[in-house]
Amino acid sequence: MQNIDLKQYIRGIPDFPKPGILFYDISTLLRNADAWQLATARMAHAIAPWQPDQLAAIESRGFLTAAPLSTRLGCGLIMLRKPGKLPGETISLTYDLEYGSDSLHIQADAIHSGQRIVVTDDLLATGGTLAASVALLRKAGANVVGASVLVELTSLGGRDKLDVPVHSLLSYD
Ligand code: IMP
Repeated sequence: MQNIDLKQYIRGIPDFPKPGILFYDISTLLRNADAWQLATARMAHAIAPWQPDQLAAIESRGFLTAAPLSTRLGCGLIMLRKPGKLPGETISLTYDLEYGSDSLHIQADAIHSGQRIVVTDDLLATGGTLAASVALLRKAGANVVGASVLVELTSLGGRDKLDVPVHSLLSYD
């Protein structure tokens, strides 16, 4: 299993969620116990040198990567959530999408000023979601030391929107 190419566990589904989009589906990797173990082990290995105090998880599939990575790395986990989901005082950031806009929230007391944070999501496409997450984390006082994704769609240039180191486990043109 150690030398295995994990790309074989990711499938591309055409015309989802709308015509013309090729959707990279990670469900087939998640449901294979050995492949998922190996994927999280490799991601944790890459993140470890950044020495995060906490991982920040982007709703919703970022929760899937963050949970095993935080236990492997021995650090905490902070949720970045859509509006109306987090109790207590929150800090938010609204960002532009292709059509319209979206917001992410973080609990106002989630981060001690200057804490080293690695933000994680399942997939990096245009980079809008991760760039907004980095901005939100900084607004909340974080020192964002890196971003980690399972899949990167390199032709969309998402990492150019980010001013932190980015690790992607699997990349596609
Ligand atoms: P971005 O903001 O354009 O980088 O898009 C990244 C966000 O959209 C992530 O939160 C992903 O979960 C989601 N996303 C975009 N394209 C795909 C895909 O092909 N497969 C799975 N998630 C995707």
